[in-house]
Amino acid sequence: MSKDKPKGMIKDANKLQDATNNAAWSDWHWQFNNRLSGKNDLSARLGIGKKLAEEIKRVAEVFPMAITPYYFSLISKNDPQCPVRLQCVPNFAELNFSPADMEDPLNEDKYSPLPGLIHRYPDRVLLTVTLECASYCRHCSRKRKVGDQAIKITMDGICKGIEYIRDHPQIRDVLLSGGDPLVLGDEILDKIIGEIRAISHVEVIRIGTRVPVVMPQRITMSLVNVLKKYHPLWINTHFNHPVEFTPESEQALAKLADAGIPLGNQTVLLKAINDSVATMKKLLHLLVKNRVRPYYLYHCDYSRGVSHFRTSIREGLEIQQGLIGFTSGFALPLYVMDIPGGGGKVPLGPEYIKKYTDSEIVLRNFEGVDYIIKD
Ligand SMILES: *Cc1c(COP(=O)(O)O)cnc(C)c1O
Ligand code: SF4
Repeated sequence: MSKDKPKGMIKDANKLQDATNNAAWSDWHWQFNNRLSGKNDLSARLGIGKKLAEEIKRVAEVFPMAITPYYFSLISKNDPQCPVRLQCVPNFAELNFSPADMEDPLNEDKYSPLPGLIHRYPDRVLLTVTLECASYCRHCSRKRKVGDQAIKITMDGICKGIEYIRDHPQIRDVLLSGGDPLVLGDEILDKIIGEIRAISHVEVIRIGTRVPVVMPQRITMSLVNVLKKYHPLWINTHFNHPVEFTPESEQALAKLADAGIPLGNQTVLLKAINDSVATMKKLLHLLVKNRVRPYYLYHCDYSRGVSHFRTSIREGLEIQQGLIGFTSGFALPLYVMDIPGGGGKVPLGPEYIKKYTDSEIVLRNFEGVDYIIKD
């Protein structure tokens, strides 16, 4: 992997290029404020025709688009199938709704006792603290909500969520999600996490964030100093492809790990992006090299506008089978599906128990050899 400056720096975008030479590039506020959106003309920057650029704009009117200059700089301009491009640049296929698509596939609304709080599992809740993200992923399962200016998350709403947690002693694990919680400022995060940490029955606080991937500049020492006050605090990142590892993102992960924050990673299995054993293995190895434990490999869900990313479950199982036994056990994520209709997450396998009777069990190992064990 190249350790050079990010490739694909954009010729005509003088502003962006100049910024790489000064402090602005490493300032997350600059990254955030200079995001490319549906308003920008991407034709020259991506080396595409006007017609395609217009299509992008039309899609961005339906599902929001924002790309940090940093993440944009990882796009390889000459490759229409560039994995970074596919994840952040709108594609007309997003508007082809498939019959399997659902508005709210996880039935999150049903399990929301309050707006922004989802209580689906007995001992843990998900609290939405913002609907904004640093960059919007084209494969996002919360696509219908993220970036929606019409839905407002207020501090008052968040406080109501925290009160709910306080009133429910069975909640021992609180997952801050969004949107991306780390687009919030240090002070707000300090306040929110501080309030949750003050609840005696909350054992673990978790943050789900894609910031280390799309805006690693956000991981400042000042942020890390806020977070490490509230241990045990876990962070789950969202790396999907080996090219997302750069000196910047690796440094961000190192800062978090050095602060004693256990790091996990959730990957979405994405067609033409990471749906091969070779790519997935490279990704998993980069994660563990950076002290990030692969957590879940999600089967791409059934939200509207993401069906072009979905592989079959069989393909997912085959990839898992190509990994289990062939690399370190702690580099293996669990392949899961969030069952459409709100069933929750279930592991998908693959299956290594080939036969199970009252007297014996047949196990097939990673090399395909069967072993009979008397039970
Ligand atoms: C995924 C999820 C969680 C956390 O589940 P884990 O399997 O513990 O990581 C909690 N609440 C909701 C609504 C979720 O979707
Ligand atoms: S960062 Fe997370 S919530 Fe935001 S668009 Fe990407 S997947 Fe969705």
